[in-house]
Amino acid sequence: CGIVGYVGPDASARSLDVVMEGLSRLEYRGYDSAGVALVAGDTVFTDKRAGKLANLRAALESEALPVSSTAIGHTRWATHGGPTHENAHPHRGGDDGKIAVVHNGIVENFHALKGELLAQGVQFTSETDTEVAAHMLAAAFAATGDLTEAMRRVVGRLEGAFTLLAIHADQPDVVVAARRNSPLVVGLGDGENFLGSDVAAFIGHTKQAVELEQDQIVTITPDTYRVINFDGTEGEGRPYEVTWDA
Ligand code: GLU
Repeated sequence: CGIVGYVGPDASARSLDVVMEGLSRLEYRGYDSAGVALVAGDTVFTDKRAGKLANLRAALESEALPVSSTAIGHTRWATHGGPTHENAHPHRGGDDGKIAVVHNGIVENFHALKGELLAQGVQFTSETDTEVAAHMLAAAFAATGDLTEAMRRVVGRLEGAFTLLAIHADQPDVVVAARRNSPLVVGLGDGENFLGSDVAAFIGHTKQAVELEQDQIVTITPDTYRVINFDGTEGEGRPYEVTWDA
């Protein structure tokens, strides 16, 4: 339901702070569970909880995650699978669990895709439609070594509505996001960049925004953002300045 992404200069507590603050600014939309993922060293760490953001916050206080330059977060409004811990996002993909994704919307053809993955021996840990995207991205990353190209391959096979964000342990300073029939906005900072399902996610940090158009993918690093269309051609998005205050 709510999505936040961040990539900044150095490994610090800031990435997680920005993501948690963004999620709390999106709380008004309603949700049933919440989670975050970040990259540290060559590992992706996640924490997620059923229930309110306060549950996640308490968990993060009692057992701190490592500091990181890169983080994503999600508040879930369950459509496929009950509002449980296992079904909360982020979802991991691959045998090594090096990828984590968060998703708003519905992957309409997840049943067929899950059937294919199960036939390949992939093991699922949730009942969500989202988890197919995590495993497909892991396989596409293994084939391409690049998260943007992996995302491009995977979105070509997804039907329905999605705002999908992914991070990978082997590309630690990158967040890749895609959208179809579901909103996605980039926030441009100074040596840091943001993603949100809504500008409210990062309005406390920047007013420079780029709204993605339909069927586009954006790749953010601390200093750059690049938009492509699902067909692989260069895209631009729609830059604008947010005119309301935090
Ligand atoms: N369909 C996904 C799920 O049920 C995402 C729901 C949402 O937009 O929060 O987990």
